[in-house]
Amino acid sequence: MKKTAASKAKWFDKHVMVIGPDKDSEKKALAFLKKKHVENLDFPQEFSANTTCRCGSGFEPFWINDARGIPLAKVCDKCEAEKLKKFRPDVMEDSGYWHDEPIDED
Ligand SMILES: [Zn+2]
Repeated sequence: MKKTAASKAKWFDKHVMVIGPDKDSEKKALAFLKKKHVENLDFPQEFSANTTCRCGSGFEPFWINDARGIPLAKVCDKCEAEKLKKFRPDVMEDSGYWHDEPIDED
């Protein structure tokens, strides 16, 4: 399935979050990454020459954050569903969930 720039941008907004020293740096880094991401429509591996997902897909991994912005796991397009199986759905959506679960620190 070929992804369009619009769907890529949408996906990016939904999945990617940058943690920086301040809001301004975060915004800049995010904008930079988004531009790259959307421009490299058909070559997801090209802009991640030295960072590929541990699952062996060759795709660039990204952090999945929970509803409170805490990183849960590093995943890529290929293994996202598989890796997120171990987390309860409410962790992703309800920022008031209780938090005594181990967090995948990579
Ligand atoms: Zn992966």
